[in-house]
Amino acid sequence: MFRGFLTIRDHCEVCGLDYGFADPADGPAVFVQLFACVPGVIFILMLEIMARPPWWVHLAVGLPVVMLTTVLPLRPIKGWLVAAQFTTRAQEAGTADLWAKLHRGDRP
Ligand SMILES: [Zn+2]
Repeated sequence: MFRGFLTIRDHCEVCGLDYGFADPADGPAVFVQLFACVPGVIFILMLEIMARPPWWVHLAVGLPVVMLTTVLPLRPIKGWLVAAQFTTRAQEAGTADLWAKLHRGDRP
């Protein structure tokens, strides 16, 4: 489904499904912020408040925590949102005509 880390292919390489409908926009980033990044930052703050470690501990612990909680979940969440877009035929409210004009013929 992906060409690069987050770039979606034009078509599914297995069944040929046109991914023209796929546009999760900033949805993956929002979910990452809400469910992964905020707990990660709270963990780092609690580490500082409760243990007052030296700066290198924050570098050794905080940096991996931030990377793991922000970068790693992006791709599966984007895949999940595209799948949800497909199964629910989701589109922005009130844009059915615009959608049809922009995506003529490639709606699933
Ligand atoms: Zn497919």
